[in-house]
Amino acid sequence: MESSRPALGARLYRWAVGPLELSVEALVLVASLFWAVSANRLFFAGALAERSWSDPSAWGFAAALVVLVVALHAALLGTLATRWTVKPLIALLSVAAAAATFYVEAFGVVMDPSMLRNVLRTNPAEAGELMTPALWLHLALYAGVPLLLLWRVRVAPRPWLASAWRRAALLLLATLAALGALMTVFQPFASLMRNQKELRYRITPASLVWSTGAVLAADAKGASRPRQAIGEDAAAGSSWALRRKPLVVVLVVGETARAANWGLSGAPRQTTPQLAALPVVNFTDVSACGTNTEVSLPCMFAPVGRRDYDEDRIRGQQSLMHVLARAGVAVQWRDNQSGCKGVCDGLPSETVASLQLPGLCADGHCLDEGLVQDLDQRLNSAQGTQLWVLHMLGNHGPSYFRRYPARFARFRPECREDDLRRCSIEQVVNAYDNALLYTDEVLATAIRRLQAHAGAVDSALLFVSDHGESLGEQGLFLHGLPYPIAPEVQKRVPMVLWTSAGLEQAAGMRSGCLGPELQRRARTPVAHDHLFHTVLGLLDVRTALYQPELDLTGTCRTPSAP
Ligand SMILES: [Zn+2]
Repeated sequence: MESSRPALGARLYRWAVGPLELSVEALVLVASLFWAVSANRLFFAGALAERSWSDPSAWGFAAALVVLVVALHAALLGTLATRWTVKPLIALLSVAAAAATFYVEAFGVVMDPSMLRNVLRTNPAEAGELMTPALWLHLALYAGVPLLLLWRVRVAPRPWLASAWRRAALLLLATLAALGALMTVFQPFASLMRNQKELRYRITPASLVWSTGAVLAADAKGASRPRQAIGEDAAAGSSWALRRKPLVVVLVVGETARAANWGLSGAPRQTTPQLAALPVVNFTDVSACGTNTEVSLPCMFAPVGRRDYDEDRIRGQQSLMHVLARAGVAVQWRDNQSGCKGVCDGLPSETVASLQLPGLCADGHCLDEGLVQDLDQRLNSAQGTQLWVLHMLGNHGPSYFRRYPARFARFRPECREDDLRRCSIEQVVNAYDNALLYTDEVLATAIRRLQAHAGAVDSALLFVSDHGESLGEQGLFLHGLPYPIAPEVQKRVPMVLWTSAGLEQAAGMRSGCLGPELQRRARTPVAHDHLFHTVLGLLDVRTALYQPELDLTGTCRTPSAP
């Protein structure tokens, strides 16, 4: 007998390919549930790390956390979504959550506002190196599948009043569920959030929305007013009138070089053979201001540093370069990375890529040699007092092997993958150390050129890295963890100073003070905080901002050694 209803196969087929009709509110709930289980593994793992599953209270705590995460996302999305925006919003947040969880799980990074600032400021060449097959696979699974399902959903149209009621009910329900869950576990939850502040940034994608909002709000606040002038009293020191030669200070800002692998600082293997053969002062215990470029760079050029760190204040003010320019120093920023982060706003700057050097650039990146290639010409035509800042690409990860030419691949086997997880730790460290060998070459080349011109130009070269790097220790890679929880390897950086024989006299320093005295100082703890004041000292620029105790050559201005 023939049935009047379609066959089961046909019904299944229609269900599988036909439109799926849902209300905005139902869609919000489904998406919130999906994110809770797909993107919050590390949040739950971290929150439950100290508990045993044989303890019944652990199950109650876990259940409350799940309700909390679902309710939080339902409230967030329920507030933002309309019938027309709900699908694009879910699509965008699903892709963002999938990409974020990939990096968080692979490298142990934390998606706080400072990391989001890094992500939002990444240039296309940097981003390209992060697009690995493993990422695409992860995106296909955690974003592609939900996007396919979402594409099939048709948002049910409803009369205005009915949808307003439903929305109010959803928000009320989400709020009550969150409050209820919170009340049942308030004590342990509050202490967890106090003790592990970074855990809140593992609630995904809510943390991405929060961090992006925080960055945009801070930028909007900063953009609405011009940078506040600092050091308006800056003036040439008394030594300037006595100089017979030009004075050039070269400040090399390193990238991701960590002290733990720096040959001069006693690393297990020699990664700085050329610098070791030159008369340089190596500072062995230097603390970085931040653990990523976006924090460290502005901080290094600010008078306040880490000891009195205030991000808004630093971003809202002029930098060391503006102070020097005001005193009559000719300043220039040459960049081989992602820009000067506001440090050189309105001042002369150029990129290595714009110099069109043959054979040095590929895939949007240039080798760091490009920073120093024309040093002879620059020194030949140097006049007056100058500061040349060279911003390296250095050890920018994860593709360390792209940072040096083949002849520097001395430590082998080296990791030649953009995706670090496809290599052994040994291969990753080898590639990282090869990149340090190349930094050693670039710095030594610059110093030898300065030495060769020392008869005509007094000079100094100061190199300091912006932050360190994790190379697999405790399962962590790259950098950017919040400062209080970041491992030492992300916070300790190399710093090297070389000065020409004529510098002491040119900068009005006591004769001989840059010798053994400074070598002794170089073995004591110092920080990025010293950079601002030390450069003022090397160039003999006077301002009320100058703090002699933070000038590493500060004792050179006192009559005799302490
Ligand atoms: Zn950096």
